Amino acid sequence: MTDLELSEHSISKRAFAFMEKHKVAPSPENYALWYHYAFGKNTDLIREIDNVIANHLEFNDETSGYLYNKFIIANRGQKMVDDAANDAQKLLQDILKQVSEFSGETSNYHKDVNQSLETMTRSLEETDVKNVVRNLIQATTTLKQSSEQMGRKLEESKQEINSLRKNLQQVTIESQRDFLTGAYNRKTFEKFFDEYVDTARQNKAELSMLIIDIDHFKQFNDKFGHLIGDEVLKIVARTLIDSLKGRDIVARFGGEEFIVLLPETPIDVAVRVADVVRGAIAGKELKRKDTGENYGTITVSMGVARLRGDNDTLPSMTKRADDALYRSKNAGRNRVSKEA
Ligand code: GH3
Ligand code: MG
Ligand code: MG
Repeated sequence: MTDLELSEHSISKRAFAFMEKHKVAPSPENYALWYHYAFGKNTDLIREIDNVIANHLEFNDETSGYLYNKFIIANRGQKMVDDAANDAQKLLQDILKQVSEFSGETSNYHKDVNQSLETMTRSLEETDVKNVVRNLIQATTTLKQSSEQMGRKLEESKQEINSLRKNLQQVTIESQRDFLTGAYNRKTFEKFFDEYVDTARQNKAELSMLIIDIDHFKQFNDKFGHLIGDEVLKIVARTLIDSLKGRDIVARFGGEEFIVLLPETPIDVAVRVADVVRGAIAGKELKRKDTGENYGTITVSMGVARLRGDNDTLPSMTKRADDALYRSKNAGRNRVSKEA
């Protein structure tokens, strides 16, 4: 057993010991989570788990699901990018090795030719010209063979590079998205936010933001389970993405919250757009396709803010949208409020 396998083995043993100690159900998701805990590198994950332990809370489905979404699923995108980059690097090393082997062949050829020329000039009369020519032909044939082989290898490498490039493009696209809902993830949203704010300031254009939060979603999960809850999250994301087009940005901001950026949209227009989407979500009857089981309807509450002046930032703008959202919640939910 190698060192690596040994240490992996002992990490997984520790992970199982922790799970037993804290009465964690032995599912693959929980194992992945506790393996990372036992591995000891992810300080955020460790802090959150230690918090749950310190507060004597249970590792029930909800807590574990939350931790799994936050730390395992969210990091998968980065891992895919890293893997793809590693593949590309390995291929490049391979090509460089082939190229250097090939230049070894050509320098041998040059050596052979030079030697033959030297022999010919040194003692032309005594030289068996036939021998020199035979050597030259042999060296040339070897070079021709290895150059054909090199050509084939380069062609194979070219195809491999093309498929890696496609893979990298795909992985890059996926790493910008939230795995469950397909909306942009928070990191990507932040990049878009900076870009859109710059453009709005340059063009003195309006920029509006919506924060969307599913109403009583905890109750919904408790009643129908997390998996059905996840399907609802997908439906809400799909409705947002389908209702908003063009350069509008839809991202998953947290558990059951989404955030939207509407460029060149004054706040009152944003409120109307938000209300149309709110109505579309509230009007959907949630039914299971295979069994026909009915889960009723869900609603969302929203808060709307507009970019202000030169000093507005992501935290200050989201704070105003969030305050407006909480006014929607306090006023009875299933409604849209704009910043004060
Ligand atoms: P409110 O109307 O005040 O927003 O009530 P709420 O129950 O929606 O709000 P609360 O913040 O108390 O609970 C949010 C719930 O969202 C808790 C959790 O069960 C659920 N949730 C968060 N992320 C996910 C997820 O990825 N999948 C599922 N199924 N549920 C999630
Ligand atoms: Mg919430
Ligand atoms: Mg909610």
